[in-house]
Amino acid sequence: MIGKVTLVGAGPGDPGLLTVKGREALLEAQVVVYDRLVSPAVLSLMPENAEKINVGKEASHHLVPQEQINRLLLNKALEGKRVVRLKGGDPFLFGRGGEELELLTEHGVSFEEVPGITSAIAVPAYGGIPVTHREFTSSLHIITGHARAGKPLEIDFEALVRTRGTLVFLMGVTSLPDICAGLLEAGMNADMPAAIVEQGTTPRQRRFNATVGTLAQTATEQAVTSPAISIVGPVCALAEKFDWFDALPLKGKKIVVTRPRERSGTLAGRLSKLGADVYEYPCIRTEPIIPCPEMEAALNRLGDYTHLVLTSPAGVEALWGMLEREGKDARALSGVTLAAIGPGTDRELRKHGLRADYIPAVYDAAHLGAGLAGMVSGRVLILRAELGSPALTEALERGKIPYDDIHCYTTAYESEHAAALRTLIREDKVDIVTFTSASTVRGFAHSVGEDLDFSRVLGACIGEQTAAEARWYGIRTRVAAQATMDALIDIIIKEGNETWN
Ligand code: SAH
Repeated sequence: MIGKVTLVGAGPGDPGLLTVKGREALLEAQVVVYDRLVSPAVLSLMPENAEKINVGKEASHHLVPQEQINRLLLNKALEGKRVVRLKGGDPFLFGRGGEELELLTEHGVSFEEVPGITSAIAVPAYGGIPVTHREFTSSLHIITGHARAGKPLEIDFEALVRTRGTLVFLMGVTSLPDICAGLLEAGMNADMPAAIVEQGTTPRQRRFNATVGTLAQTATEQAVTSPAISIVGPVCALAEKFDWFDALPLKGKKIVVTRPRERSGTLAGRLSKLGADVYEYPCIRTEPIIPCPEMEAALNRLGDYTHLVLTSPAGVEALWGMLEREGKDARALSGVTLAAIGPGTDRELRKHGLRADYIPAVYDAAHLGAGLAGMVSGRVLILRAELGSPALTEALERGKIPYDDIHCYTTAYESEHAAALRTLIREDKVDIVTFTSASTVRGFAHSVGEDLDFSRVLGACIGEQTAAEARWYGIRTRVAAQATMDALIDIIIKEGNETWN
């Protein structure tokens, strides 16, 4: 059977700008052939077992020749694979998408093209520049500023100037002086508004406003590098007024999200939407203890307990795994009162048709313990990690409540990206590190290395206990007003308003 090739436009950088159809194709791919300008967040959608082939390795500046890419697509399709060719922006706009289809048609291989949001329009948009505007211009021209090796630019500047349209130049950082000179020689007014946007639609986006007369010099002074887009035309004057992206509250702030590998999704996503340059650092990994004879025994005599206490979603997962292995379901817990440390744990319970009967007003171990001590009359079963906080059991002991504290999952420190993060912190490139539990503080501190000067780190902590752990390592802290993601994000924005602007 012959496979199929789908050319997919990945959009300009912001992962939210991948189309729904492009995402579907990617999720179903068996082979993904991608290049340099595709963002890591889009690449992370590639199915785990798909074969991933990078044909635009940046480090060595060694690009795979086009001819070889064409053959690769053909061969993989002939092997019967569902191939996705993922390209930055739109595949057909200066993307050689057409060339890649030639060989496929010659061999009768079927293909589809999923257009992408092109940087030519989206990057100006994120720079506050609408490419057309009725009062300023009635046409848009997209031009490559790339010259063939050793040759002058093949641009008809006079024709361009005559159009009075908006001019968008791609691939033109090195030839910018020639482009501007060409426009001026063709009679464009030196005061014509112009702008250059580097790494558009990403948190690292930088936009500089200038005029045709000053644009090349501005780009040099600001050390603008590729990828960047230059825009020439009266619409550039609107950039300051419509500058919505740079105005996002966390725009460009480097925020490290330390969470267990499985759970960084929501916080990281929300910070990104606020413009942050999120660095996900999964520093601990939780794994259920299997087999777990203590938990098994406790569940078999659940009648001995009045309360079952869970202090994390990972604990709920471990519990549920055991019930499943035993061929049981939620009804096995019907006789016992369920207590959860906070809404995250409760949410995990709800996934399984259960809900917490009790959640303390402040979501930490001490308040959970104190709350239970005030209401429990029987025996308490705690299912949690080996390194659980002593504050919970201490509170129960003070209340003379009998309990069994059973460890049903382990937490391991991860260090895959530790060296890279350590360098960023040493170079003061990290604005803030988020901590959502004391165990993530430990995971962070142990994995990045305790020889690091932790006073360089500003930690946004979800609660007092987490903050206490952070201070113990010498980390400077800000504490959320409540132990919720909303409050954590609020404290980060507040910090931003007070010290970063
Ligand atoms: N097919 C792509 C363009 C490929 S040519 C598209 O439709 O967007 C590559 C050029 O696109 C770069 O040299 C740069 O000029 C521009 N470009 C792509 N992504 C960009 C980004 N995020 N910011 C600024 N320019 C970008």
